[in-house]
Amino acid sequence: MKIKAKLTLGVGLLFLCIILLAGLGTFYINALSKDTQNILVANYNTLNYSRNMIIALDEDITTSKSIKKFSENLISQKNNITEIGERELTDKLSEDFENVKSNPNDSLIYISIRKDLADIMLLNMQAIQRKSDIAKRTANDAIWWIALTGTFCFLIAFILLINLPGNISNPIRELTEGIKQIAAEKYSERVHFEGHDEFGELAVAFNTMAQKLEEYNNSSLSTIMFEKKRMETLINNMHDPVIGLDEKKIILFVNDEALKILGMKIEELTGKFAQDIAVRNDLMRSIVQELMPSKEGKQDKKPMKIYADNKESYFDKEIVDITITPTGEKEQKHIGHFIVLRNITPFKELDFAKTNFIATISHELKTPISTIKASLQLLENKNTGALNEEQKQLVESIKDDGNRLLKITSELLNLSQVETGNIQLSIQNSDPSKILQYALDAVKGQAEQKQIKLEVKTDKDLPLIKADAEKTTWVLINLLTNAIRYSHEKSEILIEVKKEVGNIIFSIRDFGKGIESKYKEKIFTRYFQVPGSSKSGTGLGLSISKEFIEAQGGNINVDSELGVGSTFAVTLNSVE
Ligand code: ADP
Repeated sequence: MKIKAKLTLGVGLLFLCIILLAGLGTFYINALSKDTQNILVANYNTLNYSRNMIIALDEDITTSKSIKKFSENLISQKNNITEIGERELTDKLSEDFENVKSNPNDSLIYISIRKDLADIMLLNMQAIQRKSDIAKRTANDAIWWIALTGTFCFLIAFILLINLPGNISNPIRELTEGIKQIAAEKYSERVHFEGHDEFGELAVAFNTMAQKLEEYNNSSLSTIMFEKKRMETLINNMHDPVIGLDEKKIILFVNDEALKILGMKIEELTGKFAQDIAVRNDLMRSIVQELMPSKEGKQDKKPMKIYADNKESYFDKEIVDITITPTGEKEQKHIGHFIVLRNITPFKELDFAKTNFIATISHELKTPISTIKASLQLLENKNTGALNEEQKQLVESIKDDGNRLLKITSELLNLSQVETGNIQLSIQNSDPSKILQYALDAVKGQAEQKQIKLEVKTDKDLPLIKADAEKTTWVLINLLTNAIRYSHEKSEILIEVKKEVGNIIFSIRDFGKGIESKYKEKIFTRYFQVPGSSKSGTGLGLSISKEFIEAQGGNINVDSELGVGSTFAVTLNSVE
């Protein structure tokens, strides 16, 4: 039954009960009132008339006043005959009254009248008694019926009281509980209301909704699982070793390539702290060393040398920070690291071949170039014959080119040394002033050609430095040559040597074209030349200088402004 019908029935029944009780009450009150009215009209009046007639009789029936009173009451009595036998008694009274009027002195008639009146009164009193019994019965009936109907109504009201609120509130409570469970992502929750009322329909709708949500949840879970599998397969099929860590550096996944180079099984790695594995595994230690608290953030740029594929292999390590923005949030959250070791062995092998080739070529070129230079010197000698002006110019230009070739071959040789890691350093306690002087002497000619003034300022009592004098001189010559090359004619170059605690700083400042800030880092990389700069260079000078200085434990840096000039500074350790 529908809730609306239930409520209508419940309230309707209570309404009926009220009407029934009210009707019953009215009916019995009416009946009782009729009974008492009956007594009053029918019998009480007769008693009253009789009493008045007795009074009139007692007064003096012979007087006209008494006769009048008696006859009035007798007429009223005649009109108020209600009981069986009352008429006969009233007729007899009337007859006796007529007799009294004609024989006022007959005492027997008086006695007869009194008897008549007594009989009428007795008859009516008996009637009162009888009617009072009837009223009592009516009252009893009323009590009985009202009690019965009241009990019936009470039972109905009681049944409604017990059932109706529960019937409505229980499904609402169950439904609320169900909705709460769904909100807590417990999609298996169902509600069970029997019957075909509105709650039954609501339950069916709710259960359908829960089932669909459950299906959706399960299907999205399976999609996620499928995507996870796909990602795992993808990572496993990568030819480069890959390791995934969470934000606490617990290993989440390791692909087959990574397992191969680490020489470990997957179950020995996943779910473990990377630092715990690093204690036992040297390779893992060098892979995650940048993630350890002491070294966090500093990525080692050098390729890792690892024995893999039955040969010495080179891997370029890249650590990628994984950050996400959680749904509904604005702040980014760090959730781990992704380490990729890119196998660069084939490139390294090519690089080695190239370096060897460069080394061989530059070495082989050195001898013929030196011979050319020697032959030029012979040509310049007057003993070999005088040269005309044109020939002199040709010889001069061949000399310049020869010098450039020699510079290039020496740079290439240095480069091959750097690349093979074979920088042969002979670090000794050297005098910085002497090193600077060698360099200045070497570039003096070039400076004079462009009329550039070399302004030198050195601190007093410079300590000795721990350096390879030859390589440091080479670096300073290279920096001075650049400064001269990129300075305007007739300008000035400031050369300073300063002492600092534990260090000596050589700084070379020019007022030339300067370097754009975006190129400041790049100029120290191999073969890099600022676009539009002198074509005569190789782009190797600064990169080799950096290698040479860093190999000696020092550093080199630049401060420059476009159009204003550049300052290159070389810092080296001094002898304490
Ligand atoms: P290069 O042989 O081409 O000079 P370097 O490695 O010595 O190679 O220099 C790299 C680049 O840096 C140059 O191409 C040049 O553009 C820039 N550079 C170096 N020194 C200076 C300087 N003093 N002033 C302006 N640019 C410079």
